Amino acid sequence: MCLDASDNMTYMTRNNSLTDLNVLNYRSLEVHGLSFELMVDRKPIGEIVGTSDTAVPYWLFKTGVALRPLSQLNSGDTGKRVVAVCPCGTYGCSCISCNVVQSWDRNIVFREFTTDLRSSLLPFNLLIFSFSLDNYNSVVKSIFDDIRVFEAI
Ligand SMILES: [Zn+2]
Repeated sequence: MCLDASDNMTYMTRNNSLTDLNVLNYRSLEVHGLSFELMVDRKPIGEIVGTSDTAVPYWLFKTGVALRPLSQLNSGDTGKRVVAVCPCGTYGCSCISCNVVQSWDRNIVFREFTTDLRSSLLPFNLLIFSFSLDNYNSVVKSIFDDIRVFEAI
Protein backbone atom coordinates (compact mmCIF):
# COMPACT_ATOMS: atom_id res chain seq x y z
CA MET A 1 0.00 0.00 0.00
CA CYS A 2 2.87 2.41 -0.57
CA LEU A 3 1.44 4.40 -3.43
CA ASP A 4 2.81 7.73 -4.57
CA ALA A 5 0.12 10.38 -4.28
CA SER A 6 1.16 12.07 -7.52
CA ASP A 7 0.44 8.90 -9.50
CA ASN A 8 -2.95 8.40 -7.99
CA MET A 9 -4.89 11.61 -8.21
CA THR A 10 -7.70 9.82 -10.03
CA TYR A 11 -8.01 7.62 -6.96
CA MET A 12 -9.52 10.55 -5.08
CA THR A 13 -13.21 9.83 -5.30
CA ARG A 14 -14.09 12.24 -2.54
CA ASN A 15 -12.80 15.44 -1.07
CA ASN A 16 -9.80 14.46 1.03
CA SER A 17 -9.71 17.53 3.21
CA LEU A 18 -9.48 16.90 6.95
CA THR A 19 -12.97 18.23 7.54
CA ASP A 20 -14.31 15.40 5.39
CA LEU A 21 -12.92 12.66 7.59
CA ASN A 22 -15.09 10.57 9.85
CA VAL A 23 -14.31 10.36 13.55
CA LEU A 24 -13.77 6.96 15.18
CA ASN A 25 -14.31 6.48 18.88
CA TYR A 26 -15.70 3.93 21.29
CA ARG A 27 -17.34 3.43 24.61
CA SER A 28 -16.37 0.65 26.95
CA LEU A 29 -19.07 -1.48 28.55
CA GLU A 30 -18.92 -3.96 31.41
CA VAL A 31 -20.41 -6.68 29.24
CA HIS A 32 -18.67 -10.07 28.87
CA GLY A 33 -16.08 -8.70 31.30
CA LEU A 34 -15.15 -5.76 29.09
CA SER A 35 -16.45 -4.84 25.65
CA PHE A 36 -15.96 -1.96 23.27
CA GLU A 37 -18.68 -0.43 21.19
CA LEU A 38 -17.06 1.21 18.17
CA MET A 39 -18.68 4.39 16.93
CA VAL A 40 -18.33 6.46 13.79
CA ASP A 41 -19.29 10.11 14.10
CA ARG A 42 -20.79 9.26 17.51
CA LYS A 43 -23.08 6.54 16.17
CA PRO A 44 -22.53 2.84 16.96
CA ILE A 45 -21.45 0.94 13.83
CA GLY A 46 -24.24 -1.63 14.34
CA GLU A 47 -26.77 1.15 14.35
CA ILE A 48 -25.31 2.68 11.17
CA VAL A 49 -25.29 -0.64 9.36
CA GLY A 50 -28.71 -1.56 10.71
CA THR A 51 -28.11 -4.83 12.57
CA SER A 52 -28.34 -5.66 16.27
CA ASP A 53 -24.58 -6.30 16.42
CA THR A 54 -23.03 -4.23 19.16
CA ALA A 55 -19.97 -4.12 21.46
CA VAL A 56 -16.88 -6.24 20.71
CA PRO A 57 -15.60 -8.36 23.66
CA TYR A 58 -12.04 -7.51 24.71
CA TRP A 59 -10.56 -10.91 23.86
CA LEU A 60 -11.28 -10.35 20.18
CA PHE A 61 -8.80 -7.46 20.28
CA LYS A 62 -6.24 -9.63 22.06
CA THR A 63 -6.55 -12.42 19.50
CA GLY A 64 -6.37 -9.98 16.57
CA VAL A 65 -9.89 -10.68 15.31
CA ALA A 66 -11.02 -7.10 15.98
CA LEU A 67 -9.09 -3.89 15.23
CA ARG A 68 -5.33 -4.24 15.24
CA PRO A 69 -2.51 -1.74 15.63
CA LEU A 70 -1.42 -0.30 12.29
CA SER A 71 1.90 -2.14 12.43
CA GLN A 72 -0.01 -5.43 12.26
CA LEU A 73 -2.30 -4.25 9.48
CA ASN A 74 0.66 -3.35 7.32
CA SER A 75 2.34 -6.71 7.63
CA GLY A 76 0.35 -8.30 4.86
CA ASP A 77 -2.90 -8.71 6.79
CA THR A 78 -5.81 -8.67 4.37
CA GLY A 79 -8.42 -10.38 6.55
CA LYS A 80 -11.56 -8.61 7.57
CA ARG A 81 -11.61 -7.08 11.02
CA VAL A 82 -14.63 -7.55 13.28
CA VAL A 83 -16.08 -4.17 14.32
CA ALA A 84 -19.41 -5.18 15.95
CA VAL A 85 -20.57 -8.46 17.49
CA CYS A 86 -23.84 -10.20 18.40
CA PRO A 87 -25.01 -9.16 21.90
CA CYS A 88 -24.24 -12.74 23.07
CA GLY A 89 -20.53 -11.96 22.51
CA THR A 90 -19.89 -14.74 19.98
CA TYR A 91 -18.75 -13.31 16.68
CA GLY A 92 -19.37 -16.66 15.00
CA CYS A 93 -23.02 -16.14 15.87
CA SER A 94 -23.26 -12.78 14.11
CA CYS A 95 -20.94 -9.87 13.46
CA ILE A 96 -20.11 -6.93 11.23
CA SER A 97 -16.67 -6.97 9.68
CA CYS A 98 -14.81 -4.85 7.17
CA ASN A 99 -11.43 -4.38 5.58
CA VAL A 100 -9.20 -1.93 7.43
CA VAL A 101 -6.57 -0.47 5.12
CA GLN A 102 -4.28 2.52 4.94
CA SER A 103 -4.82 4.71 1.91
CA TRP A 104 -2.05 6.50 0.02
CA ASP A 105 -2.74 9.68 1.99
CA ARG A 106 -2.09 7.70 5.22
CA ASN A 107 -5.70 7.83 6.36
CA ILE A 108 -7.27 4.62 7.65
CA VAL A 109 -10.23 3.39 5.64
CA PHE A 110 -12.99 0.95 6.70
CA ARG A 111 -14.65 -0.55 3.64
CA GLU A 112 -16.20 -3.70 2.11
CA PHE A 113 -18.49 -4.24 5.06
CA THR A 114 -20.12 -7.61 5.54
CA THR A 115 -22.74 -8.80 8.01
CA ASP A 116 -24.23 -12.18 8.80
CA LEU A 117 -27.69 -10.82 9.34
CA ARG A 118 -29.54 -8.99 6.67
CA SER A 119 -28.79 -5.34 7.21
CA SER A 120 -31.68 -2.88 7.20
CA LEU A 121 -29.37 -0.41 5.47
CA LEU A 122 -29.00 -1.32 1.82
CA PRO A 123 -26.54 -1.20 0.23
CA PHE A 124 -24.56 -1.25 3.50
CA ASN A 125 -21.63 -2.91 1.74
CA LEU A 126 -20.91 0.37 -0.05
CA LEU A 127 -20.20 2.15 3.22
CA ILE A 128 -16.76 3.74 3.40
CA PHE A 129 -15.38 5.51 6.45
CA SER A 130 -12.07 7.38 6.50
CA PHE A 131 -10.24 8.28 9.68
CA SER A 132 -7.05 10.20 10.26
CA LEU A 133 -4.11 7.99 11.18
CA ASP A 134 -3.84 9.78 14.55
CA ASN A 135 -7.50 9.10 15.26
CA TYR A 136 -7.15 5.38 14.49
CA ASN A 137 -3.92 5.00 16.44
CA SER A 138 -5.27 6.73 19.52
CA VAL A 139 -8.47 4.64 19.56
CA VAL A 140 -6.55 1.38 19.23
CA LYS A 141 -4.00 2.42 21.85
CA SER A 142 -6.74 3.49 24.23
CA ILE A 143 -8.61 0.19 23.82
CA PHE A 144 -5.48 -1.86 24.50
CA ASP A 145 -4.68 0.37 27.51
CA ASP A 146 -8.20 -0.28 28.86
CA ILE A 147 -7.70 -4.03 28.39
CA ARG A 148 -4.40 -3.92 30.28
CA VAL A 149 -6.03 -2.07 33.18
CA PHE A 150 -8.96 -4.52 33.19
CA GLU A 151 -6.68 -7.55 33.27
CA ALA A 152 -4.51 -6.07 36.01
CA ILE A 153 -7.46 -5.91 38.42
ZN1 LIG B 1 -25.39 -14.47 19.32
